[in-house]
Amino acid sequence: MNTDSSSRIVDLRSDTVTRPTPAMRRAMAEAEVGDDVYGEDPTVNRLQQRAAEIFGREAALFVASGCMGNLIAVKTWARPGMEVICDERGHVNNFELASMSAIAGCMPRTVAAPDGILSWDLIEPLIRPKNYYTSQTGLISLENTHNMHGGSVYTREQTEAICEHAQAVGLPVHMDGARIFNAAVALGCEVAALTQMCDSVMFCLSKGLGAPVGSMLVGTRGFIEKARVTRKMLGGGMRQAGVLAAAGLVALEESPKRLHCDHENARRLAEGLAGIKGVTVDPAEVVTNIVIFDVRAAGKTAAEASADLRSRDVLANPTGKYTIRMVTHCDVDRAGIDRAIAEMASALRGGSVASGG
Ligand SMILES: *Cc1c(COP(=O)(O)O)cnc(C)c1O
Repeated sequence: MNTDSSSRIVDLRSDTVTRPTPAMRRAMAEAEVGDDVYGEDPTVNRLQQRAAEIFGREAALFVASGCMGNLIAVKTWARPGMEVICDERGHVNNFELASMSAIAGCMPRTVAAPDGILSWDLIEPLIRPKNYYTSQTGLISLENTHNMHGGSVYTREQTEAICEHAQAVGLPVHMDGARIFNAAVALGCEVAALTQMCDSVMFCLSKGLGAPVGSMLVGTRGFIEKARVTRKMLGGGMRQAGVLAAAGLVALEESPKRLHCDHENARRLAEGLAGIKGVTVDPAEVVTNIVIFDVRAAGKTAAEASADLRSRDVLANPTGKYTIRMVTHCDVDRAGIDRAIAEMASALRGGSVASGG
């Protein structure tokens, strides 16, 4: 828990807002470094080895962001002109500036999936026949947990069923596992088991795990070698990146143990919000650290309600005209959650705030 001048603000916009812990800052100050473009940064190398080990893979690569990790995966697996199958509301389809098209030359091929969770039944019809006049399918991308579906999770069985079918038709499967540790905690299993059959996995150190910067790609040695070249091409070859990797190592070792607290807080938050007149949310659907709720019945838009909340020092982002997302993390404790609930209740009771209409 960090204390600083902004700590009276309850910032639930995202788990990306977490600040490095004192242990991370110490590790950063003391990090042994070298030139990582030469593969000579001992701290980056240690982080990559640990990530590979934890995921039961041959190799891992430290990348600047989750978006960069997903883009590298697309560029490594698929050629320009190919399609990437993903669900309609997926991060790769909505929040990555169409980089798979603009940079990798690929097109998203999407389908609406219940809770954002794809199944082979939904995927199979999207796979292109092998001919000379349609674009070809290059990759399947799964998002676990699913951001815009309130942190919903793929179970190991759901993922493996997709991977088995994909393997049989020769298609690689990438997991956008930005919050894969949250999924593992919710399911009570290891990230390695949960992702074992995926051909590549991206996960973020900079979200719930609390590191200041960075994400990881994991996979086979061959995949990671290609990914390293693509990372450099994208301008992501970092030099003495050990100062960042040092915080990532602390995050990787220490943070998964406490994610269950964020999940308990999210459930508490959802239950509190569900008790407010005008708010629609089903607490039973909240299994990780994301709560998405609807304020339509309060006669307010999400923009109005979140502006009102902001004036009360509670920050949350609208995700639609009437929906607001709150994400719990290590820098908001239980008292912060209770304040967010209380402020939401009084905001919707109508205590209208002077904010230009
Ligand atoms: C945040 C996020 C990313 C991208 O991570 P950045 O580090 O912000 O680039 C990718 N996928 C999902 C599901 C995310 O939530």
